[in-house]
Amino acid sequence: MTVHEVPSGTRAFDWTVPDEWTIRDAFIEDQDGRRVVDFAHCNLHVVGYSEPVDRCVYLDELQQHLHSIPDMPDAIPYVTSYYVRRWGFCLSQRQRDSLKPGRYRVRIDSTLAPGSLTYGEVILPGRSDREVLFSTYICHPSMGNDQLSGPVLLTALARYLAQRNHDLTYRLVFIPETIGSLVYLSRHIETMRARTIAGLVVACVGDDRAWSMTQSRRGDTLSDRLCRHLLKTHAGEVVEYTYLWPDRGSDERNWCMPNVDLPVASFHRSKYGRYPEYHTSLDDLSLISANGFAGSLAFLNDFILVLESLGPWRTTSIGEPQLGKRGLYPAQFGHMCGYGDELARLMNVLAYCDGERDLVALADHIGERAIDCLPLIERLLKEGLVERAG
Ligand code: ZN
Repeated sequence: MTVHEVPSGTRAFDWTVPDEWTIRDAFIEDQDGRRVVDFAHCNLHVVGYSEPVDRCVYLDELQQHLHSIPDMPDAIPYVTSYYVRRWGFCLSQRQRDSLKPGRYRVRIDSTLAPGSLTYGEVILPGRSDREVLFSTYICHPSMGNDQLSGPVLLTALARYLAQRNHDLTYRLVFIPETIGSLVYLSRHIETMRARTIAGLVVACVGDDRAWSMTQSRRGDTLSDRLCRHLLKTHAGEVVEYTYLWPDRGSDERNWCMPNVDLPVASFHRSKYGRYPEYHTSLDDLSLISANGFAGSLAFLNDFILVLESLGPWRTTSIGEPQLGKRGLYPAQFGHMCGYGDELARLMNVLAYCDGERDLVALADHIGERAIDCLPLIERLLKEGLVERAG
């Protein structure tokens, strides 16, 4: 991974990289000197980007700087304020209810000063310069599904891709949400527009409770079709979110805007904003699981395998080729029971290798899993019965 630092003040289209926030310590102390809220226990306790403060305040004033969730008495919410200067604390409703009237010392030992935005990039060149984009964000503190899971999964994917042959080029980016995709685009938009054939925002991919996707702005790009196809055949029960606000909510907002217009959908298990623990301290390691990750990695693996053999493919024969002499057709059968699923699949694949449909459209049309069609395409290719049409 190449790590890049982009100085505060750098322009990215309509935006500017903000000052860098450094947080060292923060607490609320009661009159007896007891720390009733302590950043050292959980870094969600401080509103992200809080400006420094060291004051004594009465409870009434303190309340205006506190955030909690009445319906979830044990959850510490995740709150951040990137572009408005303020300070605040997040705490569980139970903690908040236990605060007695009186004076409190509030201290946030932070700095907001020129620094840099940090992002990471892994480019895995293939034989072709046609590219697949995977992006994930790295800006949330201490949460499991909506934070850690995306970078963990893409790291595993980068390792996997580095070990196998691939025709396509893979671009994996690890960015702070929103400003990160804008900065990244400001440096690479021409290349990405010219080369990107598909892509996914990978976010919230560690739990095992749901399978979901968010459409690209167009809703029918290769990424949308492939994501939809794989989810349908992997998971059965699939939730598909549109590109309409507020269903869209991560970096697809920038990847897909009209003057960028990359074919990028999003892949999730339980999507951000759609599960109870979202943006709270309850989105912790207990929520994500090995099973969740394994399922998500298998999904991305299939996503890549289909893209690598996407076609469209075209049959080389006029009329049906004679499969029997190539050992692809049963020597004899007397009635319908002689047809196996495998043969049906082969015959249908062959009939729709028409030079127009890519593998996703072909599989959708014949009602098969694209993944199951791959070995057949390979076999037909070996026999010289199909060729690449595109
Ligand atoms: Zn989030």
